[in-house]
Amino acid sequence: MPKLRFKAFGEATNRIPVDMNGEGKAESLVDIFAINVFDRPKMKKYLSEEAYESIITSIDEGKKIDRKIAGQVASAMKAWAIERGATHYTHWFHPLNGSTAEKHDAFLSIDIKGQPIEVFKGDMLVQQEPDASSFPSGGIRNTFEARGYTAWDPTSPAFILENTLCIPTVFVSYTGEALDFKTPLLKSLALLDKAALSVLEYFDKDARKVYATLGWEQEYFLIDESLYNARPDLALCGRTLMGHAAAKDQQLEDHYFGSIPARVSAFMRHFEVEALKLGIPIKTRHNEVAPNQFECAPIFEEANLAVDHNQLIMSLMDRIARQHGFRVLFHEKPFKGINGSGKHNNWSMMTDTGTNLLSPGKTPKNNLQFLTFLINTIKAVHDHSALLLGSIASEPNSHRLGAHEAPPAIMSVFIGKTLSAVLDELEQKVTDQKMTPDEKTELKLEIIGKIPEILLDNTDRNRTSPFAFTGNRFEFRAVGSSGSCASPMIVLNTAVANQLMKFKDEVDKVIAKGIKKDEAIIQCLRKVIIESKKIRFEGNGYSQEWVDEAARRGLPNISNPLEAFKTFLLDSSVKLLTGNGILTKRELEARYEIRNEIFVKKVQIEARVLGDLAINHIIPTAIAYQNTLISNVKGLKELFPNEWEKLADHQHALILEISEHIHAISHQVNEMIERRKEANQVEDIVEKAHLYGKNVKPYIESIRTHIDKLEMIVDDEMWPLPKYREMLFIR
Ligand code: ADP
Ligand code: MG
Repeated sequence: MPKLRFKAFGEATNRIPVDMNGEGKAESLVDIFAINVFDRPKMKKYLSEEAYESIITSIDEGKKIDRKIAGQVASAMKAWAIERGATHYTHWFHPLNGSTAEKHDAFLSIDIKGQPIEVFKGDMLVQQEPDASSFPSGGIRNTFEARGYTAWDPTSPAFILENTLCIPTVFVSYTGEALDFKTPLLKSLALLDKAALSVLEYFDKDARKVYATLGWEQEYFLIDESLYNARPDLALCGRTLMGHAAAKDQQLEDHYFGSIPARVSAFMRHFEVEALKLGIPIKTRHNEVAPNQFECAPIFEEANLAVDHNQLIMSLMDRIARQHGFRVLFHEKPFKGINGSGKHNNWSMMTDTGTNLLSPGKTPKNNLQFLTFLINTIKAVHDHSALLLGSIASEPNSHRLGAHEAPPAIMSVFIGKTLSAVLDELEQKVTDQKMTPDEKTELKLEIIGKIPEILLDNTDRNRTSPFAFTGNRFEFRAVGSSGSCASPMIVLNTAVANQLMKFKDEVDKVIAKGIKKDEAIIQCLRKVIIESKKIRFEGNGYSQEWVDEAARRGLPNISNPLEAFKTFLLDSSVKLLTGNGILTKRELEARYEIRNEIFVKKVQIEARVLGDLAINHIIPTAIAYQNTLISNVKGLKELFPNEWEKLADHQHALILEISEHIHAISHQVNEMIERRKEANQVEDIVEKAHLYGKNVKPYIESIRTHIDKLEMIVDDEMWPLPKYREMLFIR
């Protein structure tokens, strides 16, 4: 009798919504917003005027921070943090394993007289040396230079999490190579700022800075903690490696935007309040398509901060879910047969004067500006579509992409009928010849001038597109739910910046030939429209016709993550990233290796867990049930010596069927172990990943098929693992 499964199910059904005893409740959301963040108002309060001005200028202008000022900021931070109950501090960073890392130190120290004091100095704020030898480095940190250090990122404010003052930092090796996501992200943001500003010189001379904005939407599953603990595959791999589909899951589409179960909404309220205290402007919550799947989204922010906030909210949700008897799953495909989870990255560019560069304006001039940024973004995606796919590729995300629930593994851009028509008209009506005044007027009034009124009600949605324009921003939908937002943002920022710089050069050349600015811009835009045309697609991204059409257009279709990782090393990628000083060749190669390494580890862990479950849980259960069938058949034979064969034909058939599945499972598990051993002999990580992908991974699916068949045969009372129908419907 599988006690654990039924005990877990009993616990799950009897749980009631957790009353938060005041915690997670709040009188006014405005009052609690950012109370745990050392933001500008707090800096102003705790710093001298001179120090405040100095630090703000350094942050806004990206200048080096004076040592003396750093000392003053540190002591202000310490005073504020201690007042709010903090006892420890940590440098908080994003190593390349995709999680966050921290090592806490107490403020407490002992002075020369042996008395306890609280210390937090400028140098402790500015730099730390965590023992980081176990973070992935892709060979950058060999044993002789095993040290890495973290350095303060003053553009992302410090915050308090559970009595610890957390200081966002970059993480680099002693030889200066980036070991994290933040370092190249910051470089890409600075590059985009510079490039966009240079193009803005044509339109808007007031802007002094351009920010990339990011508004992520985070999908996730919730599962009852007891059921989670009764599923070793979920606990160790984050996804179910077996489990027959429930008779009902998402067919009726009754979960999407349905009412939120009480236990879930108690959890949501709780983490939202905690998120708001951390300055994360969380705004939206709703059910998603699959049962037990949900989504949250904040108001967009400057991209570096938004990336930090996404990392932060994932760890916050994980922690708070436990207090509600839940586990939160960020895996891209926790359950077979129903939708997986993604993370939509809504991206745009915004000036310090508050103009969204991807928002159509009210005048033809503003619209020309809008079109310039829109069209150049499309071209950037066109030029680096493969690398963009690479940036979001991972073993778990490959279960989701191209599965008719998330974008295909083909990159394309959707802009909607109206804008497509505008781009097509620009392509047809503009020539390299000087325009007549009439032509100019027509272009300005009929094409460019018309954008806002028609766009307002025409931002049609195409959910099958990986990169869709949604009225005032692009939405990159291929990002995986567990992945870092930083990786795709680095590529997108850099690709767009690079294209804007090229565009600026082109336009300047035309202007130098004596053509007026507006006309030069329009002529160059037409060229860019033509050059990037093949990336535009308005149809159904899930259809076979698109797969065929994309192949005809020569667009990359990369569904295998190992192939996607290779895009890091394409000549065009190396040129883009190294040429613009975002990542060196060595850093890129390291990142490539790390992705392969993580792939190997994920498949290896899944293969081990599956082998264990198959041999130690499933086969013994199947044998036990088979034995009851055998004694039943024997009994029938004894009682009814003449008719037993007819009477026992169902049992007989099952006994054989069970044997066949047991045989297949044990045989395949042995094979899988052999293939693993072979792959483990290989030193080269890329070759090893290849072997894991080709020889080990397929067994995970094929073994599962037999187990899922057994689940349908074996007496429900005997089945050891919680079933899909039990896990997927929270009461
Ligand atoms: P939907 O599910 O329809 O795409 P949501 O409201 O769930 O819409 O999410 C929209 C996301 O887009 C939010 O995170 C929002 O902050 C973000 N967003 C809106 N405007 C911008 C912008 N200019 N730049 C970046 N993100 C934006
Ligand atoms: Mg969206």
